[in-house]
Amino acid sequence: MLAACTACGSIYAARQWPDGEIRVIGQKSCSCGSTDFELVDDSDDDPEVGTDDG
Ligand SMILES: [Zn+2]
Repeated sequence: MLAACTACGSIYAARQWPDGEIRVIGQKSCSCGSTDFELVDDSDDDPEVGTDDG
């Protein structure tokens, strides 16, 4: 999965641990020094979203 740094927005390959902790793979923290990441939804498009302006 992918995770984005909450501080600078950089995207990293990451994994979510059973306890919910998100950690980037291959390094301890982001290049900016932050260790807070949020999961990135890599789906192409949301079927829920959509507005027809007829
Ligand atoms: Zn960062």
